Amino acid sequence: MEHVINGVAKFQKEVFPEKKAKFSELASGQSPEVLFITCADSRIDPNLVTQTEPGELFICRNAGNVVPPHSNHTGGITASIEFAVAALGVSHIVVCGHTDCGAMKGAIAPENLDTLPHVKEWLGHCRAATEVVRGRHGSLCKDHLDEVTRENVVQQLQHLRTHPSVASGIANGSITLHGWLYNIGTGDVLCYDEQSKEFTAISERYRVMFGDQIAAAQAAGASCGEV
Ligand code: ZN
Repeated sequence: MEHVINGVAKFQKEVFPEKKAKFSELASGQSPEVLFITCADSRIDPNLVTQTEPGELFICRNAGNVVPPHSNHTGGITASIEFAVAALGVSHIVVCGHTDCGAMKGAIAPENLDTLPHVKEWLGHCRAATEVVRGRHGSLCKDHLDEVTRENVVQQLQHLRTHPSVASGIANGSITLHGWLYNIGTGDVLCYDEQSKEFTAISERYRVMFGDQIAAAQAAGASCGEV
């Protein structure tokens, strides 16, 4: 813990003064463009991976980057989504899964979670993903971790669409959904393509959407992915 406390001191002494104007601007409000939903795993740093600054990502994290389907039950994720979309007006929502996800391992083998009843219940939101993979192979085991992780991203995107504010935004074209998969060991980020139903390198996926900007970033060596 000591290095964490020392980090605060370093932030206040060295980092904050350098970005004082930015923090001064942020002190009175935020208008992030992106709601970023990812796993609580300590190895993921959304701002580092996306090279964004405070104020740019509205980040929502939990075990397994889960989005419970909308219901009349009020939960933290549901309230955060509603706030990000209806109050802040984000125009993009990213659901980002990752490699070596402990939550996905738990979803594959829930019988190992008897001492973690809340985790076990929470990961029930991933059952459609595990059942899709089980149905595809006739069984389910740890060898299917990558496939379950991908299916889970797709499933949580489905759940997102059930939230009224998101459904409304998609219907009027003000919101775009994105399914990502972050590889902790390589730094690659793959993106789900609704048409091909496959995850492809981020540069490929967004070439169509952002065209020249992506090409320029690649030329500058600033992109990450299988290019
Ligand atoms: Zn995880």
